[in-house]
Amino acid sequence: MRRLLLRLADRPRLGAAMDRVALTRRFVRRFVAGRQASDALAVLGALDADGLTSAVTCLGENVRVPADAERATETYLGLLDAIGRRKLRTTPSLKLTHLGLDLGEGLCVDNLTRVVARARAVGTRVWIDMESSRYTEPTLDLYARLRPANPHLGCVVQAYLRRTPADVERLIALGATVRLCKGAYREPAALAYPDKRDVDASYARLAERLLDPDALARGVYPGFATHDERLQRHVRRLAAERGIAADRFEIQMLYGIRPDLHARLRDAGVALRVLVPFGEDWYGYFMRRLAERPANLLFLLRNLLR
Ligand SMILES: Cc1cc2nc3c(=O)[nH]c(=O)nc-3n(C[C@H](O)[C@H](O)[C@H](O)COP(=O)(O)OP(=O)(O)OC[C@H]3O[C@@H](n4cnc5c(N)ncnc54)[C@H](O)[C@@H]3O)c2cc1C
Repeated sequence: MRRLLLRLADRPRLGAAMDRVALTRRFVRRFVAGRQASDALAVLGALDADGLTSAVTCLGENVRVPADAERATETYLGLLDAIGRRKLRTTPSLKLTHLGLDLGEGLCVDNLTRVVARARAVGTRVWIDMESSRYTEPTLDLYARLRPANPHLGCVVQAYLRRTPADVERLIALGATVRLCKGAYREPAALAYPDKRDVDASYARLAERLLDPDALARGVYPGFATHDERLQRHVRRLAAERGIAADRFEIQMLYGIRPDLHARLRDAGVALRVLVPFGEDWYGYFMRRLAERPANLLFLLRNLLR
């Protein structure tokens, strides 16, 4: 089922059809703040008032013309201005293919550099999301090049990829700001663990490495992106056993998923960041959320039939 949903995620015409159904649009709103930046800013403000930090993503990927990459860049610049004005504790989290990576690395780097410079002026980070395995190497290479001059730039690694332990060592040597997630794309077994138990075990091992005193001494700042309570407990236990201060790492979650955990984590003194997506181009993101939990699909189908 997961593979089928991820395969359908590459069919944007299906998204256009789903968009015509009011019930789907309502269901999408569980995971997506809305269509406009103003919708996201309202959610970010509410999270801030609740004592939570956040990240914001303008949905979109694999743009085909420079004008779309420019539009995405302008959206992030506008968001950063609003973040600065409203003094929100929010960082943009963006995809390089949204800024034009498929159209040429130079274009993408130019766009990213503008966003990174504005983020520095506002006093916040920029987190570069990780996309499918086709982009792992170019994304990490680009990150390694830009990071020395931009310590407020973060990147992401995916525990399901067999190559990730080596990537994590490279990032530790850089003293990187790094989000660890399980991974959300359809990948061949040669590159990614097909079995969820292996992915979870890999995540636990990589978390241990990122919280290693040697990694932290090099300046590594890890963000543990997961809704998996067992792994969240594992991270917190490691931090407690190793005497790691609460401001040396964070747990990250997606808007609309397990919001019941937010207050619990915050009240336990954990730095929690909630990533809030918004925008018209919700289809790929939404299908990846369905693929993570088939119960979401059953819920949607049951309501459609009714
Ligand atoms: C802040 C953040 C940033 C991310 N960035 C990236 C990225 O850059 N690249 C990338 O490939 N992936 C990214 N992901 C997605 C990630 O790779 C996983 O696909 C996703 O987090 C599901 O895995 P999990 O760790 O929550 O564990 P799972 O084992 O999948 O889920 C654990 C529990 O969380 C709940 N849950 C999880 N997903 C859902 C859902 N969709 N709907 C309802 N409940 C759910 C369920 O209760 C489930 O039992 C990100 C995730 C987060 C939280």
